[in-house]
Amino acid sequence: MRKMLLLLVLFVTMTCFWTMEASAQIQAEYIAVALNDQLVAFPDATPEVIKGVTYLPVRFFAEAAGAKVDYDAGNETVQIRSGDKSVLINIPQKTITTSRGVTSSFHVFIKKNRLMVPFRLIAETFGYEVSYTGQGPLARAKDSGAQLSDEQVYVRYQHLIAAERAKLPDKIAYVTFDDGPNQYTAQILDTLARYEAKATFFMLKGQIENYPEQVKRMAREGQGLALHGVTHNARLAYASPQALVNEMEACNAALTRITGIRTNMVRVPYGSKPYMTTAYRDRLVEAGYRMWDWTVDSYDSRGTNVHADDIVREVREQTRGQVEPVILLHDSQATLQALPRILQHLTQSGYDLRPLQGNMKPHNFWNDRR
Ligand SMILES: [Zn+2]
Repeated sequence: MRKMLLLLVLFVTMTCFWTMEASAQIQAEYIAVALNDQLVAFPDATPEVIKGVTYLPVRFFAEAAGAKVDYDAGNETVQIRSGDKSVLINIPQKTITTSRGVTSSFHVFIKKNRLMVPFRLIAETFGYEVSYTGQGPLARAKDSGAQLSDEQVYVRYQHLIAAERAKLPDKIAYVTFDDGPNQYTAQILDTLARYEAKATFFMLKGQIENYPEQVKRMAREGQGLALHGVTHNARLAYASPQALVNEMEACNAALTRITGIRTNMVRVPYGSKPYMTTAYRDRLVEAGYRMWDWTVDSYDSRGTNVHADDIVREVREQTRGQVEPVILLHDSQATLQALPRILQHLTQSGYDLRPLQGNMKPHNFWNDRR
């Protein structure tokens, strides 16, 4: 049995090398898997969600379900048998054929030398009902052997689930707010404090001067302090490379006057494309600044009638699969309403919420990491 497993591992690894490469590009989300009232243990490769589909190492799930797993190296197939049911997985063809002769295509890939298959497909083939809970998150296969509710299973194993997830590489979300501070900032800071979340504020000079107490509070509470310029007017801000630097210098002077802190983190108005051509970026770098854009646009500044639900949805959808998203928000009423749900979602998805730091290599639309 052990020898066969080794063969499976070697053969599958070689033949599916390109698939492994491809899957490394896709960032996946952790998920725990339970079979009836028990959490299934996965000693190396862990189950994961890619584009809404849960994949798991088929061997450990099948064996937990009492099935027998056989690998045929010649045909590159895996047969799983349980009672009178069986399935045949053809790895190169990416097909699964049931004992009733029904064949369907599915995505398959290798993770840490394990064959990963869609959880729902394999569970339903063996007669289990599949359910998901956002907590954990947890996927569950159950039949008449299940005694507990999904919630009870989660509660029973939540410490184990958290420990498993903690073993995975860090996911960090950088929540950022532009155009403030303003009348909403105090409540934004209250909300961040409630979730023990850190964010970064790209602020305008006039707003810094109008709301000095909020800026001082950000500094006290370890929020990231950063610059957004003076005029927020493209014609003026981008009049020349030096004009842009002058705006950031003036903004920085106001920040330093109030907090004693000088920052090198900049987000230019409307983002760095198309305005920040090479001459602009060179001048900004010469002046000691690092330019940040974003990888998630919440669209919270699109029009005047933005709804909190839409902001939450955008953040959820765009953040999915990102290991270190930089999320664009604004100090606004709708965003303030959306913020608790955004922070809940990010923390439940395993993100640490941290401020941007001056020593980090910046992410921007030009891929200029200076
Ligand atoms: Zn702005």
